[in-house]
Amino acid sequence: MPDSSHQLTLLGGPDGPPHGDDHWMRIALRKAEAGAQAGEVPVGAVLVRHGQCIACSHNAPISECDPTAHAEIRVLREAARRLGNYRLPGTTLYVTLEPCPMCVGAMVHARVARLVYAASDTRTGAAGGALDLVGHESHNHRIEVTGGVLREQAAELLRGFFRSRRTMGKAKTVTAPVGD
Ligand SMILES: [Zn+2]
Repeated sequence: MPDSSHQLTLLGGPDGPPHGDDHWMRIALRKAEAGAQAGEVPVGAVLVRHGQCIACSHNAPISECDPTAHAEIRVLREAARRLGNYRLPGTTLYVTLEPCPMCVGAMVHARVARLVYAASDTRTGAAGGALDLVGHESHNHRIEVTGGVLREQAAELLRGFFRSRRTMGKAKTVTAPVGD
């Protein structure tokens, strides 16, 4: 139910300063850091509409025992619940790592208008890194894509996380998504 939007706690606002991609990606990076603190692979996501944050979250499959609990899926779920609509037209999804096929599929279902990601994922990225599902001709919904926003910060966060995992001897429990 769209009328419930006034009940949302929103960051920014129509009267605030305009925020660019870097601003929202920095928030996604902070969420990714929170994920790392919780022992999750550090990936964070923010869903924005009309210059306002509708939902933000981090990767949580381990803590939630849920293989679908990627940051992107979690923000889509939260935003759809908050807005009372499973379609999320006019939204931009910011994520610190190129999304996997599952998450791109969910974005297409939700009719997300734009995807902005930081680091590329040459192993499972579905926005052109490993395969390109975003531009796949079978989809009747097109998502505009911008990659590489604050890429180095996001990649360094992932590298640092996997370095510390290796140091702790836990490298086998998760696999590094970044190809380098
Ligand atoms: Zn995913």
